Amino acid sequence: MSSRPATDNSATLFERAQRVTPGGVNSPVRAFSQVGGTPRFIERGEGAYIWDADGNRYIDLVGSWGPLILGHGHPDVNRALQSALQRGTTFGAPTEGEVELAERLLDRYPACEQVRFVNSGTEATMSALRLARGATGRDMIVKFAGNYHGHADSLLVDAGSGALTGGTPSSAGVPAAVADATLVVPYNDVAALEELFARRGREIAALIMEPVAGNMGVVRPDETFLKAARRLTREHGALLVVDEVMTGLRLARGGAVELLGLEPDLVTWGKIVGGGLPVGAFGGSRELMGQIAPLGPVYQAGTLSGNPLAMAAGNATLRAIDESEDLYPRLEQLGSLLETGLADAAREAGVPVSINRVGSMLTLFFTEGPVRDLAGAKSADLDAFGRWHGAMLDQGVYWPPSQFEASFMSAAHTEGDVEAIVEATREAFGAV
Ligand code: PLP
Repeated sequence: MSSRPATDNSATLFERAQRVTPGGVNSPVRAFSQVGGTPRFIERGEGAYIWDADGNRYIDLVGSWGPLILGHGHPDVNRALQSALQRGTTFGAPTEGEVELAERLLDRYPACEQVRFVNSGTEATMSALRLARGATGRDMIVKFAGNYHGHADSLLVDAGSGALTGGTPSSAGVPAAVADATLVVPYNDVAALEELFARRGREIAALIMEPVAGNMGVVRPDETFLKAARRLTREHGALLVVDEVMTGLRLARGGAVELLGLEPDLVTWGKIVGGGLPVGAFGGSRELMGQIAPLGPVYQAGTLSGNPLAMAAGNATLRAIDESEDLYPRLEQLGSLLETGLADAAREAGVPVSINRVGSMLTLFFTEGPVRDLAGAKSADLDAFGRWHGAMLDQGVYWPPSQFEASFMSAAHTEGDVEAIVEATREAFGAV
């Protein structure tokens, strides 16, 4: 194995950061708590690569946790941002960019007639659930264990992603009354869902779900499970909220809704829709969205919502996706190549792994699996993952620093990058 790259500058920055910010980071998973070692401070990104403060280059498989489907610094996005910047950063008044992005997004989601932009995925799911409660006049929410929908109080119950990485899937500071209004069922468990709706169906405002889970690592839904979610919500007068913050515009032009043929009442978006700037969104039928202020009684607002720079980056990204004829087949091809390469390398090294992948989202679980739910994901050997992760970093591959996350490929990755990742993996399995 090559000698370990220097990380002195990242270490110094991390020390400074820890003095002024809790854990030295502004979002927990960035702290590398699960894998250990020095979090890399990133100086710049270009295409499929990022460079840290010590000048080390990495093949980036985090992609800012999903938004960068075109890679870093796509020229169209940069141009759109520069042009928007000339005109002003924020007005607190409507702009054409908001209309254009709404039209572009709704064009992909025939189930939705209207959309409201917010500033993050958290705001999107929080607002969608308020709308669901307001529209149904009911209080209870159902979610799945290991699904993460942001950090709003009512959704930080048995949550995945950073909450799971830190080992505290339910947060301190969430009032018991709020947590009690969130009912949790295992993912892919039709019987448990049926039982819950039979018992409490009349109280349930909404069922919210990751249509393909990414926040306990990638977990694919069974078709029967998806069908049960739609049937039960319909039968009991509850709304089905499909959280496409991660999967939207990633798994297909119309996200998981298109890929899996779902029929959502409300959809939430984030990540790609902002093209690397902070944007979230939620949408549904005209009738449901008409419940939102200023038309209806459900209040929702934001000083910077629909921000001109963010809309410009979002519009440029969606336009580039539409102009690329083969983006999704290409991401599938790269994903498949990576999956096969990782599986071969694991077999040769005799390391038991389970690889879950849908398109450009992939998790390499350090367990024999299969991983179908949170219990399966938690059976992974986290120490082995940590050692493998460190060895991958040493060889210039920036894999998500948690077992319970998805890695993301972008249009900027090449077959050569995949080969390099697989080659690094062969070495890294030696460290496991
Ligand atoms: N929903 C899902 C499915 C997510 O993956 C995330 C974030 O990773 C969120 C909601 C929250 O989005 P944000 O981090 O922008 O608040």
